[in-house]
Amino acid sequence: MAVRERTSSSQFSVPDMECAGCAASIERSLSAIEGVDEITTSVMTQKVTVYYYPHSVDEASIASAIRKAGYDPHKIGEAETAMDIHGAVHAAPGSASETFWKNREKLLTILSGLFFFAGLALDLIRPEQGHTYFWRGHLGTSDLLLLTAALLGGFNFFPKGIRALWTLSLDMDFLMTAAIGGAVAIGEYTEAAAIAFLFSSAELLEDYATERARSSLRALMALAPDTATILRNGCEMTVMVEEVQRHELVLVRPGEKIPVDGAIVEGASSVDQSTITGESIPIARTVGEEVFAGTINQEGYLELKALRLASESTLSRILKMVEEAEAHRAPSEQFVRKFARYYTPAITLLALAVILLPPFAFEESFETWFVRGLTLLVIACPCALVISTPVAVVSSITSAARNGVLIKGGNYLEALAKVRAVAFDKTGTLTQGHPRVTDVLPLNGCPERKILAIAAALEQRSQHPIAGAIVERAAGLERPRVEDFESLTGEGVRGRIDGTTYLVGRPELFADAAPEPAERLRREGKTAILVGTDAQLLGVLAVADTARQDAGKAIAALRRQGIERVVMLTGDNREVARAMAAELGVDEWRADLLPRDKVEAVGKLKSQYGEIAMVGDGVNDAPALAAASVGIAMGAAGADAALETADVALMGDDLAKLPYLLELSRSSRRIIRQNVWASVLVKFSLIAGVFPGLVTLIMAVLVGDMGTSLAVTGNAMRLARIRPGKGQSTG
Ligand code: ADP
Ligand code: MG
Repeated sequence: MAVRERTSSSQFSVPDMECAGCAASIERSLSAIEGVDEITTSVMTQKVTVYYYPHSVDEASIASAIRKAGYDPHKIGEAETAMDIHGAVHAAPGSASETFWKNREKLLTILSGLFFFAGLALDLIRPEQGHTYFWRGHLGTSDLLLLTAALLGGFNFFPKGIRALWTLSLDMDFLMTAAIGGAVAIGEYTEAAAIAFLFSSAELLEDYATERARSSLRALMALAPDTATILRNGCEMTVMVEEVQRHELVLVRPGEKIPVDGAIVEGASSVDQSTITGESIPIARTVGEEVFAGTINQEGYLELKALRLASESTLSRILKMVEEAEAHRAPSEQFVRKFARYYTPAITLLALAVILLPPFAFEESFETWFVRGLTLLVIACPCALVISTPVAVVSSITSAARNGVLIKGGNYLEALAKVRAVAFDKTGTLTQGHPRVTDVLPLNGCPERKILAIAAALEQRSQHPIAGAIVERAAGLERPRVEDFESLTGEGVRGRIDGTTYLVGRPELFADAAPEPAERLRREGKTAILVGTDAQLLGVLAVADTARQDAGKAIAALRRQGIERVVMLTGDNREVARAMAAELGVDEWRADLLPRDKVEAVGKLKSQYGEIAMVGDGVNDAPALAAASVGIAMGAAGADAALETADVALMGDDLAKLPYLLELSRSSRRIIRQNVWASVLVKFSLIAGVFPGLVTLIMAVLVGDMGTSLAVTGNAMRLARIRPGKGQSTG
């Protein structure tokens, strides 16, 4: 069996990749190289990522392929990717020249417009007779003005258009260049000038529109703090956040932005975490607790121990994931791209046929049909079509991120819109996840203190909410040393103390799974946790957890949104499950599930309902989240694993974000459909209108290119208006 060679990846920032058409020509140019495995382009972040086999191709040839397509790539180093998040705020290198190019384009467009209108006006006052071909030498003044307009406007895209001819790619620069060339050739100077001027303006307007979509992403990045005040060698100093080392002492004054993820070592304050969790009510934070970079310290003075480098902070990772989300394409975007791949060549061929057939086969006027052919060339541009989906996806994903919901790809957004059933984990998801130990019942004469000390010693290494409750109850007791600790996910924990192996966890772990006290607790709707060795039980701990305040409401809201089935999956016992299910109004519950049983339960739901979402804590429930069509993790801000494994992460613990998420996904699906169908319809009506001569060249540029692109972008922007907790919807 052949061993698959490992691929390397390189990322480039391509500032002039502004439209989906540009991205497509870069992709085409790159995919022609031997050894390139996969290419992802993001028009929103203007980045190209290439996965390649390092034995067959190197970075330099990849860069030169991008250059050959007419764009200027800047390599982004591995270490720079995260830095770039900060870099983007203080303007990336090269942005000065970028504004120069923008200005040059603007200037040329304005000049082209001036000449165009002057030419038109002159033509009105002193119409010239018939067609004047420039090669026959007698050009009128208005013709000269129009020709200048065509040249000036066309200067913006002629070079790229001509280069596209060499690579045989039918991108829109090429199509427009060809259309202008054709119009000039037959002496239609008005048409030529109009296309050049209008297309240049369309480009600028589209830039402006995508720039607005992009700026929402950039605003998100602006949340990242720039500098930090640290105490180094006893001196207070201000440094760039990138320079703050792990474990360094960071000082945060009242009202300041917290610069790094850190643990509070001194002071107490309330912290506005809305940038991360979307939750606007500040949370009290004190010594020992963790705070996040990008959140705002309200009234207290805090000293933090930096826990992570700036590039690894929760915020940086969220931003990076939002950036990468565009690469996980929604199925509808894949469809559109495929469609465009056939659409453009097909219409180009049609244009050629229209230029050649009627005049030669049916002796129709050559000039009329030539112009109609050129009009078809203009309509063949797929830009509005190709951009219709990504603008909506990016708009949704960035606005969700601002509301504390991280969606990792357009594919998940689209799947969410189709979800008909939602499964919930119980502990920590539907319940508060802050269970308390309510009873300690000794068995076999074991003292209560010993039971708690042993249980806490083992549980202090576990992340399970129950573990926290036990450790809390045993506070103040000395905890013996544990060897060979082992976490039995979804069941309990095991470890050796003084040569004896103890277990703490669900009754099924023990030979005697049903001692009388455990049964009694169970009947009371409490969770019984047994403590003991394989041979002998030491005692039973009763743990009770209360439902989250908003859980019942969120479930009711989901049901109002048409979710057909809400299921609770839990590893807890049946009595606890039944009581909780009744309280919250879930349709179905399954108890006593091991993690693998949860996976199976999710699989079964999937076969019944198609797309299903699973909501869990992302740590214990990672396999079940992975098995669902969309795995949604709660409280991901504190839990690294949850942030990485989930498809969608709710940064806070707020279940009310679920109905919001559903509404957003459905609206974005609706808007994507509107965008795709509207742009397809516009294109085809224009095509149909060309034949009877109803659609002119100018109309094709105005409506088909500029108008449609702006309309789909504007439509997508509406998605940013959907907010959690408000019932409004877009239609
Ligand atoms: P849920 O599905 O309700 O979130 P889990 O699958 O996380 O519950 O856990 C299922 C059961 O396993 C718990 O009710 C508890 O009895 C036991 N358990 C899991 N982890 C621990 C632990 N660290 N300590 C004690 N018991 C545990
Ligand atoms: Mg759980």
